[in-house]
Amino acid sequence: MKDHPNKHIQAAIEYALSAGWHFRQGKGHAFGRLYCGTHEHHEHQMSVWSTPRNPENHARQIHRKVNICRLITPDRQE
Ligand SMILES: [Zn+2]
Repeated sequence: MKDHPNKHIQAAIEYALSAGWHFRQGKGHAFGRLYCGTHEHHEHQMSVWSTPRNPENHARQIHRKVNICRLITPDRQE
């Protein structure tokens, strides 16, 4: 995958991947999509925007989503 142009968001994507999440590349305004990959976790996915208005805030949203998943799956392989 190509790197996100914003370092905060790139770091958040790497954090998600290190937690076992998957990334699917998008097109247009969507840089791609992150999803946790656990079948029952329908809500553990989010779009990653190429140029969000507030990149640091967008990065925080990614972190928060990943952390919610980690809380309910503490034995998840990293
Ligand atoms: Zn999940």
